[in-house]
Amino acid sequence: MDRRVFLAGTGIASGLAALGWSVVPVGAEGLVAARRYRVGAATVHVLSDGFIPIGPDLLSGVTPEEFATLLDKAHITSETHPSAVNAFLVEIGDRRILIDAGTGEIFGPTLGKLPSVMSALGVDPTTIDTVVFTHLHGDHIGGTVSPAGNPYVNATLRVASADIDFWTSEEIQAQAPDEFKAAFDLARAALGGFGDRIEPFGSEETTIAPGLTTVALPGHTVGHTGLMLESDGDVLLIAADIVHVPAVQLAMPAVAIGFDTDQDMARQTRIKTMDMVAADRLMMGGSHIALPGLGYLETDGDGYRWTPARHQYG
Ligand SMILES: [Zn+2]
Repeated sequence: MDRRVFLAGTGIASGLAALGWSVVPVGAEGLVAARRYRVGAATVHVLSDGFIPIGPDLLSGVTPEEFATLLDKAHITSETHPSAVNAFLVEIGDRRILIDAGTGEIFGPTLGKLPSVMSALGVDPTTIDTVVFTHLHGDHIGGTVSPAGNPYVNATLRVASADIDFWTSEEIQAQAPDEFKAAFDLARAALGGFGDRIEPFGSEETTIAPGLTTVALPGHTVGHTGLMLESDGDVLLIAADIVHVPAVQLAMPAVAIGFDTDQDMARQTRIKTMDMVAADRLMMGGSHIALPGLGYLETDGDGYRWTPARHQYG
């Protein structure tokens, strides 16, 4: 029997939903691929688009031996790090804000799950009023570029003007290494999918919705941006691409990834942000941190220890 039909038929799905579980069978995998949290009066769904395998060759500041040791320490048995790709759906009052849009069809079979996860949750893309791109990389914007077009037809796009300027620059594209040139075309296509429904923001704190504001986290890209959600005394920082390979970069935060536009600045931003999250005991979310995708940091030697957010019962 189809698991989804079974759950719906017995009313278990709605019962579990009331408990905060998002039971999302995805294809034959039958995996729970989303988690729901209350942050004050707001609701945050962490939506999994799948994962991307990352090897030590993409990283700088870590040897293959150190990489293997840290994966082993994290009980990861593959030779590459399975880095999650998450999007976040934030519901505040009658506002529905989607933070990033997954990879779409551009990155192969381990990714591209976001549309089926949203559909299993009953979220119609046409009901999203705002899409925020934390930055204009393919794993965050690919879901708006498909042969069928951008599914977020009623959404206004919010994105840093610094990233728009960078990724639409023909001059910078011409100077970029060949393997990065297509990323500029993709960014232009994603922006084009929103037509004139684009409202850029600068590096200063900008309100996206009541209690949801931007936090500039430059380095990974020039306009890389996190989102601070504050509601009824609860706080969550969605820190986007603050880490890409958590099993490595939490222990060794100076390790940088080849996709960083400015690796030094990305390092500084990572350490500054993670120090703040640890000191202020904030809840943090990450685009590349495995479900539940939200949790807490404590400083631990030269690095940090991650404690996943506890499941919210009732
Ligand atoms: Zn990313």
